Amino acid sequence: MKILPGATLGMLGGGQLGRMFTIAARTMGYEVVVLDPDKESPAGKLATTHICADYSDQAALDQIAKSCDAVTTEFENVPASTLEALAKTGPVRPGAKAISVAQDRIHEKNFLKDNGFYTAPFAVIHSLEDLQNSISEIGTPAILKVSRFGYDGKGQFGINAESDIKKAWETLQGEACVLEQRMPLDIEVSVVLARGIEGEVITYPVSENIHEGGILDVTVVPARIDKNLETKVIDMAKEIATALDYVGIMAVEFFISDGKILVNEIAPRPHNSGHYTLDACMTDQFEQQVRAVCGLPLGETTLLSPVVMINMLGDIWHDGKAPKWQKLLDHPNVKLHLYGKREARPGRKMGHFNVLSANINDALTLAEDLKQQLSKAN
Ligand code: ATP
Ligand code: MG
Repeated sequence: MKILPGATLGMLGGGQLGRMFTIAARTMGYEVVVLDPDKESPAGKLATTHICADYSDQAALDQIAKSCDAVTTEFENVPASTLEALAKTGPVRPGAKAISVAQDRIHEKNFLKDNGFYTAPFAVIHSLEDLQNSISEIGTPAILKVSRFGYDGKGQFGINAESDIKKAWETLQGEACVLEQRMPLDIEVSVVLARGIEGEVITYPVSENIHEGGILDVTVVPARIDKNLETKVIDMAKEIATALDYVGIMAVEFFISDGKILVNEIAPRPHNSGHYTLDACMTDQFEQQVRAVCGLPLGETTLLSPVVMINMLGDIWHDGKAPKWQKLLDHPNVKLHLYGKREARPGRKMGHFNVLSANINDALTLAEDLKQQLSKAN
């Protein structure tokens, strides 16, 4: 059944991804109920209704069940029990099963392995002893990553020598982890895609991603990779979505290491590396999420212009003062997106901008120049 404008959509999570979904949904004539315990949540501010409560608050879930025609999420850490409870009264897209794979690195890595996808060599770690035993098998340098609740490189510890083992285990406080070999990276890419209720899949042009300190910094589209590699990563992302019986929007992050394609992780939601679609594609990833969640035909993903996306973290706010936006706004081919977060903290994603140009090198040059200018104190 198609859910049409006028209906109400539930969004679990009120961060920037929820906010951009809310904008898309409201533009299309839907009402949006956002659940987020933060009263300042970026999406809550633009929602029809912001339920300011915890993700497992029973009264909040009852209210969503009663008022929403379908429910989706913006982050993978929603408790599975919440998704299962809501699924009893209406569609939840993506469903609890797909999210439970993506929210737990151990589950995710095993799922990928069992389905024939390559990842960086890894070991599951439940104790200091596991870690001591696995390090010789995985080798150094390696990265110890908490299995749950990590994001933007948080919950990770680099192990460069055996002497780092104890510190790594203590820093991550004995949580279940995955130990991964640190791979030499030729390039990092991702594929954002949507899968509809009939199993149809539409993919976006491949994103080339440059990370800084474990956080996405720059996305370049089209990715500077050859056609053969492009086709392979797109096909793999589609296969993963199908294996998960996924409905909604998702992203697959890949490492290209010594020419080999390794899956890094799956994001069961819109993705930072898909923010370029907001200005450069026929249908952006948030409208696409609305379409997929509502059972509508998926929108075309055609790239309308080469584009460079630059993330803006709280680091470029100095003494609480925002960067000089005029520098961006002076350029007619630069598109500014701010998430409405009041407090700028180092590493916190505050916004991004897209630079569009018929020539990708021109877009890159301008993007890098603007990035430099913004990072300087006013
Ligand atoms: P997010 O959810 O924001 O993508 P995350 O906390 O889940 O971040 P990862 O994707 O695991 O983090 O890692 C962040 C970045 O760190 C990667 O995109 C990559 O640049 C680098 N990295 C992580 N694991 C490895 C690895 N095994 N080998 C080489 N580089 C790695
Ligand atoms: Mg990642």
